Amino acid sequence: MASTRLFAREALTPEGWAQNVSVEIGADGRIVAVTPNANSQGVKVGALLPAPGNAHSHAFQRAMAGLTEYRSAAHDDFWTWRTLMYHFVERLTPDDIEAIAAQVQMEMLEAGFAAIGEFHYLHHQPDGTPYENPAELGERMFSAAAETGIGYAHLPVLYMRGGMDGRALQGGQRRFGNTLDTFENLFEKARTGLANLPGDARLGVAPHSLRAVDETALRFAAGLQRTAPVHIHAAEQTGEVDEALVHLGARPVEWLLDKMKIGADWRLVHATQMTETETKALAASGAGIVVCPITEANLGDGIFPARDYLSAGGALALGSDSNIRISLSEELRALEHSQRLRDRERAVLATPEKSCGRRMLEAVAEGGASALGRDAGRIEAGALADLFALDTAAPDLAGLSGDRLLDAWIFAGGDRLVTDVWAAGRHMVKDGRHIKRDAIAARFNKVMLRLRSEL
Ligand code: ZN
Repeated sequence: MASTRLFAREALTPEGWAQNVSVEIGADGRIVAVTPNANSQGVKVGALLPAPGNAHSHAFQRAMAGLTEYRSAAHDDFWTWRTLMYHFVERLTPDDIEAIAAQVQMEMLEAGFAAIGEFHYLHHQPDGTPYENPAELGERMFSAAAETGIGYAHLPVLYMRGGMDGRALQGGQRRFGNTLDTFENLFEKARTGLANLPGDARLGVAPHSLRAVDETALRFAAGLQRTAPVHIHAAEQTGEVDEALVHLGARPVEWLLDKMKIGADWRLVHATQMTETETKALAASGAGIVVCPITEANLGDGIFPARDYLSAGGALALGSDSNIRISLSEELRALEHSQRLRDRERAVLATPEKSCGRRMLEAVAEGGASALGRDAGRIEAGALADLFALDTAAPDLAGLSGDRLLDAWIFAGGDRLVTDVWAAGRHMVKDGRHIKRDAIAARFNKVMLRLRSEL
């Protein structure tokens, strides 16, 4: 990659908004220099912003987006959704999975995300037998990442049982299961496979949840050598909290803090169901949270306590989880709106110095990078060039600048205002379109036509 120069009408830097900013990106994908009040040379953009990582994705679930919006039981909730998801899981081939992953990664880039943390738990054939190459499906994710140019963090999932009572995996879950030995083998193969991706690729680990692994397995996973944190689903559903109280004698977040002594090397996904004490203790521990506002709303999980958590200084990242909809602006809008609906107030996450949009974007840019082990999340010399640009001439944004421009994008505009995206300096989105959009979308459409015809 050659070095490049951008020129932004304005840019959000760690020191605040700057005008007429020149940003030089080195051949290694890192920012070399940021110069305000510069001459207009290089690729010209409107407003330049730090692009967050999308820290929680199950790519394959994109294929069932929008298909479970009816009532299939007297009380339709998360658990019926999960049953339908398992049913769907049994149909996907490796080619399907790669085509879907490429579409998902492309859509994330077009929305303004520079990176993805793929919480990868589809490991085996539908009946649970490993593929001839046991790392087949992980490698399909890497192929998708090589094609889309997204900053990739692989989070291979350790999944060992069907619940805290130790019951065996059943049905669709058989594609997820491993022993500690088979998992370690998969993990090492992933390390080898990732070496073929650009140098910003990362390897983390994801013990699925306290339902799916016991304490020994959790310690084993956390002890593996990695370049990104440990990710675990925690406290998404009240049913999960009840199960933990019965089998562990504590609430999930409480138990992780107490037993695992979790800190900066941990990311809890969802953490929707926390008490005030847990919220403060988790923020103080240095462990971060990955909140997934669109999915959590779609699944009826509840409302994440963002107000208290951010006030306590907690690290926060965004994830699109089920990928029912991939939209950076809408994730941010849904996060703030959820707080307003609960508290019956406006501008809940704003501070006296920063608007809602500014506070949220800065938090998730920094938190999204750290969740994926990326030295990014800020427009500053030395950081990876994870950047996105907004069209300041568009009707929603014309005449605006600074925090107001950011708020108008989130609350009144949308992802169509994203013109350009760079992932570690790779310029993958131009004029609002991924540079390989046509080929990736055509392949995805073909897979979806077949899958939808089998519904
Ligand atoms: Zn998830």
